[in-house]
Amino acid sequence: MTLDKLTSNRAVKMLNAAAEGKYGVLGVVSYNMETIIASIRAAEKKKAPIQILLFPWAYKYSPLLVDFAAHASRKATVPVTVHMDHAQDPEVIKAVSQIKAEDGTPAFDSIMVDMSHYEKEENLAKTKELVSLCHSRGIATEAEPGRIEGGEDGVKDTAELEGMMTTAEEVDDFIATGIDFLAPAFGNVHGDYHGVENIHLDYERLASIHERAKGKVQVVLHGTNEFPPDIMAKCIERGVTRVNVNKLVLSNYNEYVAANTGKVPLTQLLEKGTELIQELCEEWMDHLGCSGKA
Ligand SMILES: [Zn+2]
Repeated sequence: MTLDKLTSNRAVKMLNAAAEGKYGVLGVVSYNMETIIASIRAAEKKKAPIQILLFPWAYKYSPLLVDFAAHASRKATVPVTVHMDHAQDPEVIKAVSQIKAEDGTPAFDSIMVDMSHYEKEENLAKTKELVSLCHSRGIATEAEPGRIEGGEDGVKDTAELEGMMTTAEEVDDFIATGIDFLAPAFGNVHGDYHGVENIHLDYERLASIHERAKGKVQVVLHGTNEFPPDIMAKCIERGVTRVNVNKLVLSNYNEYVAANTGKVPLTQLLEKGTELIQELCEEWMDHLGCSGKA
């Protein structure tokens, strides 16, 4: 088994540093330019590293959005990487892993090879093949052992498939595919919890997953809508290095846009909307402990 680690990959370096420093890096689910601009502004202001997360949707909507994110990440004064989250179609992974930024390096620093909608054997086989393809292009990879239940805008809803907590065996199996980042299922769900009281995480499981993964892959967290800072802190204490956020940073923006579209000039809608995202990103950077770590 060869696990050629991508030690010079920017996303790998960023999350290794987070593990070392015991803080979390914000991974911002970005559907538009406002979110990308706000995330990078927040990162520059807080001197924090950050990851821009695009779903395959972004590439299908317009590859120009990928170019924009890649360009913006390279112009930033702090480390910013671009990650494709939940790439569920092998053809999309093959295509986007070939996109280059202007400097000739891959537009995506990391890609989540999400074959969790396949049965386990096929999932592992496909993951292994795609990990090796991405690695050959200098791109780090992520996978989801077990299955994180639910769906969110831009991710296929796996409601017809049962959520499955990540087991120790799966951690080993997925590490063996060569992945760099591991997104475990330990009670976290995609989409909404419909109240903080419905968030039931198996912290012991997370801790033991981290124990097994330590020194081999970095653990990342999906499904954080409605998480309060103390729950986030407990996850980071147990080894989480990147925290995917969607509504945690977009909720105020979503509300503002819904209430003001057509009522204020578009320029104002964009500017104010960007500010609202930036504000929440900055707050979360302080909570995650990544402020000042760039
Ligand atoms: Zn996810």
